[in-house]
Amino acid sequence: KRTRLIAGNWKMNNDVAEAAKLADELAEALNEVPAGVEVVVCPPTIDITTVHDRIQAAPVKLGAQNVYWEEKGAYTGESSCAMLKSAGCTYCIIGHSERRDYFKETDADENKKAKALIAAGIVPIFCCGESLETREAGEHVAFVTGQIKAGLEGVEIKSGDELVIAYEPIWAIGTGKTATADDAQEVCGAIRATLVEIFGQEIADGIRVLYGGSAKPENIAGFLAKEDVDGALVGGASLKADSFSAMVEKA
Ligand code: 13P
Repeated sequence: KRTRLIAGNWKMNNDVAEAAKLADELAEALNEVPAGVEVVVCPPTIDITTVHDRIQAAPVKLGAQNVYWEEKGAYTGESSCAMLKSAGCTYCIIGHSERRDYFKETDADENKKAKALIAAGIVPIFCCGESLETREAGEHVAFVTGQIKAGLEGVEIKSGDELVIAYEPIWAIGTGKTATADDAQEVCGAIRATLVEIFGQEIADGIRVLYGGSAKPENIAGFLAKEDVDGALVGGASLKADSFSAMVEKA
């Protein structure tokens, strides 16, 4: 059975002092995590070093929210894989709908990011998910599996541990409106079938597929009960140590 993964995406929240405080609270609340559960926090880039120092003793891993695929040079405002690695990141979110929508990132961009991260030994948390319009048109499964195929084209991995997928229906992000567990399973199951096509059964069986979108302590168990849902990518509820640690306890 796959190791469960609970990942917190802080998005653009917490200055350095606030990040230090939350990281201290998390290190205390999560000084032990249940067997078979992995925990990751993804702070804003500016907070990564601070959070790294404070969670070091706890079984909590560190991720970034973005990366640029070039090695170094004149790319103002960006961070490379090697920089993330040197700051202690072992995971990195890519392809979040907020990056696709507000910053106009494309499937081709996510593809380059995925390849660069995997080459650097950082696990991409590759996000996908449909808009309300696409869901209402009944095209959500085709849309999401299309994002997976385009974003992972030519990506090579030797084991399922090298990649994580997060299914985040856009209409459920930050809205308080969650998908039902059955909605999540429908798409996560289709994602797994697509991963089997791309990577073969054995590798696909090892890739964690997460649900994200208004996930919280009250609803996480329902998602995790589903066969192809292996964890959660948590926004709002990851900003409070008590709610995030409660989700880890329920995983
Ligand atoms: P919320 O949990 O705040 O809905 O955010 C989900 C998300 O986008 C995580 O990446």
